Amino acid sequence: HSHFLTPLTQGNIRVFCRVRPLLPSDHAENLEHHCISSIEESHSGRESKVQRVFPPCSSQEVVFEDISLIVQSALDGYNVSIFAYGQTGSGKTYTMEGPHPLQDDTMGIIPRAVHQMFNSVVELKDKGWKYTFTASFLEIYNETIRDLLVDKTVKKEHKIKRPTSNAVHVTNRKYLNVETVEEVLSLIKIAKQNRATACTRMNESSSRSHSVFQLKIEGLSKKGNITSTLTLIDLVGSERIDKSESRDRLKETKAINCSLSNLGGVFIALANKDTFVPYRNSKLTYLLQNCLGGNSKT
Ligand code: ADP
Ligand code: MG
Repeated sequence: HSHFLTPLTQGNIRVFCRVRPLLPSDHAENLEHHCISSIEESHSGRESKVQRVFPPCSSQEVVFEDISLIVQSALDGYNVSIFAYGQTGSGKTYTMEGPHPLQDDTMGIIPRAVHQMFNSVVELKDKGWKYTFTASFLEIYNETIRDLLVDKTVKKEHKIKRPTSNAVHVTNRKYLNVETVEEVLSLIKIAKQNRATACTRMNESSSRSHSVFQLKIEGLSKKGNITSTLTLIDLVGSERIDKSESRDRLKETKAINCSLSNLGGVFIALANKDTFVPYRNSKLTYLLQNCLGGNSKT
């Protein structure tokens, strides 16, 4: 049922699989062994499309180790995007942000990635580089963009504009300067809060929206300047269509599936080196048009 397994391990697109531990709410005491062995079997085949499988015991630290090099290349000017894909409850938010409440040792990819950047620029400073980081946090719900750093009582419309081929703007988007990991953690907290309030008010589930954290990186030196974007995305849940859902709900599930298929379609076009990549088919891919393909890493 994956939208993404087709174009994998080609060029700069890599896929990892993380299996979360069983939770009491899973009511499946004997399931774990079966799931893991079947993944490992398919993984060992020569056509394996998954770079690595992380078993349930894998810590946040171990998971981050494997992607830290990709994250690092954002400082060299590459655009880097990391997506969390899976059904609701599979551990996407845990992996990207961390458990609730956020803690230092179990923090997820977003704070770890930013932490690593902050550490690296200290060394690069001695070599004459000065970096600045600005963060934004958006949500795309049913093809509508919301700014998670802005209190939801302020209602503003956000449109995507592409004034030149190498710039994508979101109108009214809030950017915050970030310099410490604490600032990033508090930014995630604000985003979580705003997301939860909006969900309660509109009677929605946060698993039905994409959340998009973007870090704009600017490096200045006498030798030249670099700009790049690190994008960390918690995708909508990849649920199957459940015919018992209400009509409105069913319509929404179909739209969600459509937005994931569009993303898969963009990856396939990129992997095939098609001349036409259907970025404009969804808000998410339009927003990321300059962060996918070309030299960028995903
Ligand atoms: P999703 O965002 O995909 O809907 P969550 O990240 O909210 O899923 O995870 C669902 C539940 O499983 C949460 O209670 C979360 O704390 C727990 N969980 C997910 N991954 C792990 C993990 N690797 N270790 C321990 N608990 C996890
Ligand atoms: Mg989630």
